[in-house]
Amino acid sequence: MNKICPRCRTVYSYSIGQCPNECTLKMKRESNRLYDREQRKNKEFYSSKEWRELRKVCKERFAGLCLWSLYKHNRIKKGRITHHIVPLSENKSKGLLLSNLVYLSDEAHREIHKLYETNQIQTIKEIKKFIKIWEIEHGRGV
Ligand SMILES: [Zn+2]
Ligand SMILES: [Zn+2]
Repeated sequence: MNKICPRCRTVYSYSIGQCPNECTLKMKRESNRLYDREQRKNKEFYSSKEWRELRKVCKERFAGLCLWSLYKHNRIKKGRITHHIVPLSENKSKGLLLSNLVYLSDEAHREIHKLYETNQIQTIKEIKKFIKIWEIEHGRGV
């Protein structure tokens, strides 16, 4: 069985485990850099108690799963990052709104930020659509 690397599109055998071009490591580094940049820009916000609490609520809302992987790629994957659907840099007043948050894996987070650069409205729409589906399937009326 073969796998395709999502980063460089190299086809490699499942038995190797990961892309021979070390893309797993590179992707992790890239997404960390991106996340760090976001965090650094809004240091005060990201270290606030309100944010840390809300992050937990968001993770629980999506059962710790990456929503984008689940509905966009049909893959069950653990999330790691709480992402602002409308970025903090654009609208600070939505920073602490649960409805503006989604739980994502590193990979999906990177993908979404890239998408957002090319089509903001479509990206927001798609995430909101996935949240709606999640709510229908798993919601407890949040
Ligand atoms: Zn690769
Ligand atoms: Zn983000």
